[in-house]
Amino acid sequence: MQRPVAEPYKIKAVEPLRMTTREERERAIREAGYNTFLLRSEDVYIDLLTDSGTNAMSDRQWSALMMGDEAYAGARSFYRLEEAVREIYGFKYVVPTHQGRGAEHLISRILIKPGHYVPGNMYFTTTRAHQEMQGATFVDVIIDEAHDPHSTHPFKGNVDIAKFEALIDRVGAENIPYINVALTVNMAGGQPVSMANLRAVREVCDRHGIRMWCDATRAVENAYFIKEREEGYQHKPVREILKEMMSYYDGCTMSGKKDCLVNIGGFLAMNEEWILQKAREQVVIFEGMPTYGGLAGRDMEAIAQGIYEMVDDAYIAHRIHQVRYLGEQLLEAGIPIVQPIGGHAVFLDAKAFLPHLTQDQFPAQALAAALYVDSGVRAMERGIVSAGRDPKTGENIYPKLELVRLTIPRRVYTDRHMDVVAWSVKQLWQHRESIPGLRMVYEPPTLRFFTARFEPIR
Ligand SMILES: *Cc1c(COP(=O)(O)O)cnc(C)c1O
Repeated sequence: MQRPVAEPYKIKAVEPLRMTTREERERAIREAGYNTFLLRSEDVYIDLLTDSGTNAMSDRQWSALMMGDEAYAGARSFYRLEEAVREIYGFKYVVPTHQGRGAEHLISRILIKPGHYVPGNMYFTTTRAHQEMQGATFVDVIIDEAHDPHSTHPFKGNVDIAKFEALIDRVGAENIPYINVALTVNMAGGQPVSMANLRAVREVCDRHGIRMWCDATRAVENAYFIKEREEGYQHKPVREILKEMMSYYDGCTMSGKKDCLVNIGGFLAMNEEWILQKAREQVVIFEGMPTYGGLAGRDMEAIAQGIYEMVDDAYIAHRIHQVRYLGEQLLEAGIPIVQPIGGHAVFLDAKAFLPHLTQDQFPAQALAAALYVDSGVRAMERGIVSAGRDPKTGENIYPKLELVRLTIPRRVYTDRHMDVVAWSVKQLWQHRESIPGLRMVYEPPTLRFFTARFEPIR
């Protein structure tokens, strides 16, 4: 038998969880219109809605908060953040922002002109929205395997070099300000990009004079997958792997709410001085002074400390293994999930889980609601409700993937909590034909998944 690996931390402060009865949960989900976004967090036992801003900070981060320098300009805390970014990511300059989308806003304004094309390895909602707001067209250049839940390609986040080159041939390099390569790819299920692929993209960029920009939101998780799966990296510390990954890029946008182990914050980092200059001009309009960018000094302290902690090999190994620990229990029970298991979440394949429901009966929404009723575990629908309607025809979009996302916050839950989640999903699997479909009774005009309401079809 293998030696067990436990959480590489001990617990100094606890937040008690309220245990609810099945009757209470049935009432709560009914009142929430069978939409997990509308539940009160007090009624949730294990909250796997998202890994964004839900991290547990360390004792060192909490004490760093007290060291926050709240000066309006030139705060010591900014210089500490700048030093951490330089040391761990390797970029020369940093501009703090209130969260990731603040950085996306700035770089899109600086580099994009109307009529431009911005290729990317699958889209992310806020990233694409900012590119389109500046008049660019997003072009997906991820490999085909990323769209197939059954493909077990080890680097499903890779850029398809042929698709990227075909775009350059079609629209011309002068109309492509940069390629945005995300690590790991959230919308593909937390799938990584290989180092070889980053090198290949850089080579194409160099040949055509195109910048290579990183969505570094979950880059540390990506670095760990490289360590596990790519020849020559097994014995390298994650810290070194991350630095090499970043060395291929011209800059990054960052949501500190993920990798950086904090609850709020982000930044834009880059090597070119003229971009820094422009970013400083823009940040004062939209975020705040260039040395705080919408953050308190204490927030910058916590991010700086989190940056050093996120590259601790024991921490990141357990993070990835905890997600896998949950996923593997489900696989052993024959439950359909997206493979390979990604870096931040396990995705249940709701179409295969509830084959008695049509997609119009919202299988993923129904499964997420049933999971909550069974055990108080909160997950998120990523299927037809999230996909919304075609803005031109008004028809429902029927996405290929109809998923329930179980997203694991960092350092918040123990492996034992994962056992509870796995047990509950297995319960549902055994009684799956009794899970009813849903009918939508309220549909907001945009981003309907946040506030739509449903009732069970009896
Ligand atoms: C969360 C996220 C963002 C946006 O960051 P916010 O901090 O939520 O504004 C951008 N890209 C990816 C891949 C993300 O997961």
